[in-house]
Amino acid sequence: MLNSSALQSFEKIVGAANALAEPYDLDRYSADALTPFRAFGVEEALEPLADLVLRPETTSQVAEIVALAAQQRIPLIPYGGGTGVMGGTLPVQGGIIIDLKRMNRVLEVNPRDQTVSVEAGTVLQDLEDALDEHGLMAGHDPYSVAIATVGGAISTNGVGYRAGAIGPMGDQVVALEVVLPDGRILVTPQVPKTSSGPNLNHLFIGSEGVFGVITRATLRVRRLPEAQVFATIDFDSFTQGFNAVAELRALDIRPTLLDLTEEDQRVRLYLLFEGFKEGVTALAARSSEVCSQFQGRAVGPEPTLEYWRDRHQSGENYKLSSLGKPRQDRWQRVGGGGFDYLHLALPISKVLEYRERCQQAMSGSGVRVTEFAIWSRPELFSMLLAPEPGASGDFRESLSIVVQQVLTLAQDMGGVMEYCHGVGMKLGHLLAREMGVGHDVIRALKESLDPAGIMNPSKLGL
Ligand SMILES: Cc1cc2nc3c(=O)[nH]c(=O)nc-3n(C[C@H](O)[C@H](O)[C@H](O)COP(=O)(O)OP(=O)(O)OC[C@H]3O[C@@H](n4cnc5c(N)ncnc54)[C@H](O)[C@@H]3O)c2cc1C
Repeated sequence: MLNSSALQSFEKIVGAANALAEPYDLDRYSADALTPFRAFGVEEALEPLADLVLRPETTSQVAEIVALAAQQRIPLIPYGGGTGVMGGTLPVQGGIIIDLKRMNRVLEVNPRDQTVSVEAGTVLQDLEDALDEHGLMAGHDPYSVAIATVGGAISTNGVGYRAGAIGPMGDQVVALEVVLPDGRILVTPQVPKTSSGPNLNHLFIGSEGVFGVITRATLRVRRLPEAQVFATIDFDSFTQGFNAVAELRALDIRPTLLDLTEEDQRVRLYLLFEGFKEGVTALAARSSEVCSQFQGRAVGPEPTLEYWRDRHQSGENYKLSSLGKPRQDRWQRVGGGGFDYLHLALPISKVLEYRERCQQAMSGSGVRVTEFAIWSRPELFSMLLAPEPGASGDFRESLSIVVQQVLTLAQDMGGVMEYCHGVGMKLGHLLAREMGVGHDVIRALKESLDPAGIMNPSKLGL
């Protein structure tokens, strides 16, 4: 709980209109897209409310907030779109939520350097709209493009539809400006490579705000594609489709969109190639040959065109039903008797065995997989888990057991339990198991940079 003099000091930094302390606002900010249904074993993390929400407009305001909070040992939680699905923005120890969405300026578009400098609270789609006027795109294109921010996407190292060619959000980062937990401002150089010491951008990519508040980012941009070729290939089995995808990767063919999905017993590969005309034509032709080698049947561009048109629908639905709404409204999104969506990464050689072992583990559990998918590269494997029709017993309880089993199985097989959403509160307790000594290193960095432990406490399993 903040005393009134602390409250006034923070309010002075951003102005009264941008310091929110009404119960309604505290409630709607004290959540993200993690629902109690999916918070197996960490349900209590969803209960605490923030004491205050601040909406700064400049880096110096952020630095002032952080310095004052460090002095008074008040927890701070960076907040972008609040669309994270792991509870990364939950104020588990109360404190202050810093909403960055007023920091939404596109500062400099630089076609010659192929970069854009942008404030961290900019919504991804707004960035794309600004770049489009210059014939450019950043290209990080998740389902949630209309609602997630640049800072949130960097802090979760998110994956989007174009990741097959350009990689995840972290790969787009050229440089960052970050307010460190003591209020100092770190700026990394705007070049793609250095050779002295670790690349400090990586301290913040995928770090869920535990090492500082990202205030600006310089991102790589590329020209809007000269040509696009859409293709759809059906396979008789997931194994055939997977082997085709692994062969494409081995040939270093990286389609812009690559999504292999098994759903309702149909296995379909959605492909999009973008770039300069001759390159796109050659890549599409060779990919078609590779898929034929694995008994793939081309079924024309239409299914993938339709898929591409509808790709942001879930984000748009979330915007209407949940974004910025009180927690109870957000938490009603359980969907069809409950589900969980897991995104794991494994070495290519382990993926098919892992899939098999997951099916064995689920047999008779009351839980089934309604969708298996590979997104952007063969190592990235996802499963949508739902109730087995006709199964008896408590589905949520069975689901929580199965989820724990399959996540730890991925770790035991040399993989990781999450490739695009971070761990937040939902999976933080399993991160030390996954990282081993690596987690001790993260903890040592945290203790050194944030001795008061104010920056987004309890995230990244810390
Ligand atoms: C319908 C829907 C579809 C989705 N589709 C995808 C998808 O296709 N791909 C994907 O990867 N994810 C997806 N997500 C998850 C989510 O959109 C991403 O994790 C996104 O990157 C989060 O961005 P955000 O701005 O909402 O971050 P938030 O939820 O606000 O924050 C996420 C984490 O980052 C930290 N953070 C936020 N801003 C900063 C900052 N400036 N500095 C430091 N730390 C910060 C927060 O403290 C928190 O730990 C989806 C979510 C929904 C609800």
